[in-house]
Amino acid sequence: MSNPKTVLVVSAHAADFVWRAGGAIALYASRGYRVRILCLSFGERGESQGAWKVPGMTVERVKEIRRAESTRAAGILGAEIRFFDSGDYPIVPSQQTIDAMVDEFRELQPEFVLTHSFLDPYNPDHPTANNLTLQTRVYAQALGYPSKVGKPINAPPVFLFEPHQPEQCEWKPQVLLNVTPVWETKNASMESMEAQKHLWEYYTDLGRRRGAQAVRNGAPRDVKYAEAFQRVYPQTTSELD
Ligand SMILES: [Zn+2]
Repeated sequence: MSNPKTVLVVSAHAADFVWRAGGAIALYASRGYRVRILCLSFGERGESQGAWKVPGMTVERVKEIRRAESTRAAGILGAEIRFFDSGDYPIVPSQQTIDAMVDEFRELQPEFVLTHSFLDPYNPDHPTANNLTLQTRVYAQALGYPSKVGKPINAPPVFLFEPHQPEQCEWKPQVLLNVTPVWETKNASMESMEAQKHLWEYYTDLGRRRGAQAVRNGAPRDVKYAEAFQRVYPQTTSELD
């Protein structure tokens, strides 16, 4: 396909997109969409516990490890990835990063956008990523915002992926996406995240639980794994079914 439809994913740290949206990414990639991940930070301070246990570790080495892991995981899922290296704890987006994200929106003209929840008392970088995504989406709509690429975007829906402890983040599942056909792919990408082995089993259990809930909410019985998302903007529709 010469001009495929696109999906934009904004991930605060190197691995967030794998746990929280790896199924959605693999699913749309398998359908021929161009899926592009913007990774704001390597998560070198806050989300690289495994790497820091190695004696003599340095920030630069942690970043290299996380870059390599994320690049491999994105490749397994069938997505492209761009790293901004905006630091973590805290992520501090520069004006260049903001402008670059507006350019990304305008160039990609995404069908939909995936990012973090509005709140996360366990990791302040996640709301920063949410805020930056929603801001730059709005700027990318504005005719007056300077950008050298593309044209202003319309209003792509934004879906917030599931935080680690949703109740504390005031996040509710409003969409359960069947990711059963690509579960093996998501699993392979999770297993490529060597620095966070403790999360493999956790997110496998979560996928299974959301799959069971999808069936409870009317999905076919062969749905085994799902990912949950919360919408930001109203769904537009002509049908109530
Ligand atoms: Zn994170």
